[in-house]
Amino acid sequence: REVEPDRYVDSVCPYCGVGCQTRVAVKDDRIVQVDGRDGPANENRLCVKGRFGYDYVMSPERLTKPLVRRDDAPKRGDIRVDPLNPWDVFREATWEEAMERAAGGLGSIRDTHGGGALSGFGSAKGSNEEAYLFQKLVRAGFGTNNVDHCTRLCHASSVAALMEGVGSGAVSAPFGAVDDADCVIIIGARPNQNHPVAATYFKQAAKRGTKLIVIDPRGQEMNRFAEYALQFKPGTDVALLNAMLNVIVEEKLYDQQYVQAHVDGFEALAAKVRDFPPEAMEAVCGIDAQTIREVARLYAKSERSIIFWGMGISQHVHGTDNSRCLIALALITGHIGRPGTGLHPLRGQNNVQGASDAGLIPMYFADYKSVENPDVRGMYEDAWGRQLDPQRGLTVVEIMDAVMEGEIRGMYVMGENPAMSDPDQTHAREALAKLDCLVVQDIFLTETAWHADVVLPASAHAEKLGTYTNTNREVQIGRPAIPLPGEARQDLGIIIDLANRLGLDWRYDGPAEVYEEMRALMPSLDNISWSRVEREGAVTYPAKAEDMPGEAIIFTDGFPTKDGRGKLVPADLVPPDELPDAEYPFVLTTGRLLEHWHTGAMTRRAKALDAIEPEAQAMLHPRDLTRLGLAAGDAVTVMTRRGEISMIARADRDVPEGMVFTPFCWVEAPANVLTNPKLDPYGKIPEFKVCAARVERA
Ligand code: SF4
Repeated sequence: REVEPDRYVDSVCPYCGVGCQTRVAVKDDRIVQVDGRDGPANENRLCVKGRFGYDYVMSPERLTKPLVRRDDAPKRGDIRVDPLNPWDVFREATWEEAMERAAGGLGSIRDTHGGGALSGFGSAKGSNEEAYLFQKLVRAGFGTNNVDHCTRLCHASSVAALMEGVGSGAVSAPFGAVDDADCVIIIGARPNQNHPVAATYFKQAAKRGTKLIVIDPRGQEMNRFAEYALQFKPGTDVALLNAMLNVIVEEKLYDQQYVQAHVDGFEALAAKVRDFPPEAMEAVCGIDAQTIREVARLYAKSERSIIFWGMGISQHVHGTDNSRCLIALALITGHIGRPGTGLHPLRGQNNVQGASDAGLIPMYFADYKSVENPDVRGMYEDAWGRQLDPQRGLTVVEIMDAVMEGEIRGMYVMGENPAMSDPDQTHAREALAKLDCLVVQDIFLTETAWHADVVLPASAHAEKLGTYTNTNREVQIGRPAIPLPGEARQDLGIIIDLANRLGLDWRYDGPAEVYEEMRALMPSLDNISWSRVEREGAVTYPAKAEDMPGEAIIFTDGFPTKDGRGKLVPADLVPPDELPDAEYPFVLTTGRLLEHWHTGAMTRRAKALDAIEPEAQAMLHPRDLTRLGLAAGDAVTVMTRRGEISMIARADRDVPEGMVFTPFCWVEAPANVLTNPKLDPYGKIPEFKVCAARVERA
């Protein structure tokens, strides 16, 4: 170290759902280093983002004063803000003026058009307390359930299938359960990029003899540790998974006793998968029948098998069906509820699990209790002292459509960037520009904030106190390491201020009080008090008693469904909404890079990370580049029916021929200009993983 820190602060990483515990070294109120601590999810390890991605907090681009749209600025909706000069349309304001404008704009829409004309996008990067208060404000203050966040773009379809099949949307076992597993399926996930510390556990398990089965259309580093690496055709998940189920059913490899004791729907599933013999499915999914049989047998016959999945499963129009197949694999083989077994959708953002648990979704209050259930709603009305909307709200993409229809006129966005993250970005930005009132609360002038009427400078992760729930269901504490810059305020304080200006009477003495109010409404947090989380550093939910550790493995004796039984739901083959054709011959798929997180708002401003991956790129197989008369490093344009972007071509043998891959973090080449907004009918998640594209020299 070149500088001797003057203090250390124990916290958690702000990036992915692994939830690595960190030790933040501070000198003169600036972060100078971040190291790993011995947390339950990371055992002192950190990846490159957690280790080197901290300096975005101290970026000179941080918002330090409230901004309001200038009176002489172009009218919103008339023209698009020039992205090179977004500051030109704003002027600095006092907090009083900015908050009055925000509350006045949203309040007058509510009073004139009703609560249904308002909406709110909260954040999976904020704390549990922020997520809870945000949805409470939208429900009790705005008067609508139109509240959602990026889980809709992430694991919404997985949660829909899990709620239907096993009665709970959370993982059944932590990723550390691989230590006890004999067989591990990793499907539609790239842990080396997106959950790098979890990846270290998978690799260690493989070295000890655990059999890894990696299933992904793109090759990946994890394949080097795998017994089987299946690069199947994009969008044919159900064909492959139903063929595996066919083998397990036809060869009677399922656990008859377990099915009888705990599972409904076996006969219907067996009848459905009879139509999917591997020999018929190999041409569909591109994996030979013998390999499908071997993989199915390995998973079913192993004493303990566990499944991990990511957005390769969830981001399809058949995302819920994909997850139904994975749930069926676990339920019919009894590979659930025991050490080394289970179902684990790897959570993306650091607090997407906690934000969803806290009710930051349009159909559920906290703990996934339906807003349409009068008893549940009555309980919340009593607790919050307000009459609440009896109808489920709209989801992320539906909200943008409702704006274009003129049904939604106002939006409050905290720490989300739909102008970059939503599919069919041109449509999403037109919707943002059409709003009568857009209030954005963030740490940077994001692409979403360009369209705002009021921009409120907020707190970064390293500046605030709160709890976060990782992919393993571990509730942990993030602590403030450095002060807020300029006039920026705590997010929690901004939400409370807005609530009071909208007629609520909220008094909270900090996040601990909010947490305890939230906990009183959430049985999942029974026996996990704020003081316990502070004392122990991480507590897994559910916990049976204050002095007992939480339950890492759940479903040990049935499921939290009405009758305690799991439910099998057969899946049919549903093709991707858009397939390649003569005009658009490539499959476009989008995702993330190891160094850049989601829309890049943080990592593009972290010097080390941006130095490693500084420019927008489209990855293609070298043979496709040759066919197109291109070489790596050439500028290319990628086009779909929705738009086009230009970037540098990169040769990548992991990308199969006929596919182009680009991450969605580049503001200079935003991938979501290209993507298809068609939704999975159950989870309402857009199909980011497959659409038809053309590639040409730029
Ligand atoms: Fe942070 Fe995830 Fe990396 Fe851990 S694995 S350091 S939580 S980004």
